[in-house]
Amino acid sequence: MNPISRKAPTHSSAEAQRRLAYFNQCRDEIVSTIRELVEIESPSDNKAAADRLAETVAQQFSQLGGDVQIHQAKDFGNHLQVDFPGNAAAKPLMLLGHYDTVYPLGTLATMPCRAVGNKLTGPGVLDMKSGIALVLHALAALQDWHKEDCHGGLPRPVTVLLVSDEEVGSDSSRAITESLAKKAAAVLVLEPSYGSQGAVKTARKGVGDYLVKVTGKASHAGLDFQKGVNAILELARQIEKISSFTDLKKGLTVNVGTVSGGSRTNVVPAEATAQVDVRIARIKDAAGIDKKMRSLRPFNRKCKIEITGGINRPPMERTAGVAALYAQAAAIARDLGWKLGEAAVGGGSDGNFTASLGIPTLDGLGAVGDGAHAPHEHILISELPRRAALVAGLIEAV
Ligand SMILES: [Zn+2]
Repeated sequence: MNPISRKAPTHSSAEAQRRLAYFNQCRDEIVSTIRELVEIESPSDNKAAADRLAETVAQQFSQLGGDVQIHQAKDFGNHLQVDFPGNAAAKPLMLLGHYDTVYPLGTLATMPCRAVGNKLTGPGVLDMKSGIALVLHALAALQDWHKEDCHGGLPRPVTVLLVSDEEVGSDSSRAITESLAKKAAAVLVLEPSYGSQGAVKTARKGVGDYLVKVTGKASHAGLDFQKGVNAILELARQIEKISSFTDLKKGLTVNVGTVSGGSRTNVVPAEATAQVDVRIARIKDAAGIDKKMRSLRPFNRKCKIEITGGINRPPMERTAGVAALYAQAAAIARDLGWKLGEAAVGGGSDGNFTASLGIPTLDGLGAVGDGAHAPHEHILISELPRRAALVAGLIEAV
């Protein structure tokens, strides 16, 4: 194959087309890598299963010459860090993702990894095992294109971090993600892209979880009605109040997602609880909504209210650094012959952690598809080559 220029954003369209042709040729290989990853199930809550996948992924990265480091996790699969050398004077580029899925062990039986027309199905195929495969193939291609260069053509060191607990809040991996991000020049997140056109994500809302627990007093609804203190009635009033905290103009939403309480119809209920999901678009709104939640006081003084929880992921805001990364990605896509869109989404990822540290972060660089976390989860096979070309281009350009 013809030599390919190193300078991704400025290389001619002809070179871009050669890159695309390269990935078109190895499209079936990319699909079989994805299949291999999907067929090793890796639910967040099953360490043994998750570790099996981590071992396979570690092997694949070490075959590419990456230096694999295992971060032991007690309750989750081990987190995988892989370092590739590059110009040591430059700060590393961080490629971030997760290998856990929301699907319990055995899901493959009803949701097999299968290619049907242009769709490839399976648990976690979109979110985000295809993203891991894209990283593997983008790095392999760069090594192939730049065999003669030192460091396999990497203009700066590359650190890949794949965690095992993203789908359950990333408590055990967050510190690792943040410490690696602090050393990085930028972070590329291989989570699924947005929509049918595969937009990247330049803003994500921050996420909080609260539990509101009301305690009243039980009594016989017929014999002793007036001795009871109805916790459900109190919670209902609180729900009205909590829901009024939503401020759509600020991109702040408060959703009471579950309620429970009471024991039987003839008992005045002594307990009621609600789980509340909070989303914020701007970090400056975090303290305010947290204070409002914690300041809830009982309408009926005979009731007791306990509030637990807090803001778990800060928002990923579209900073100048994020916008500049997007501009680079859009230029690479343009060279490859397509228009890469951007989107602001309500869901969080580990990119929220890195972006809120001020490290330029671009998310949604993974596959194009639909149905993440749902039985119809799938990716579009035809989109894989240009996604791989985009990731490879960014690794070179950033
Ligand atoms: Zn994900």
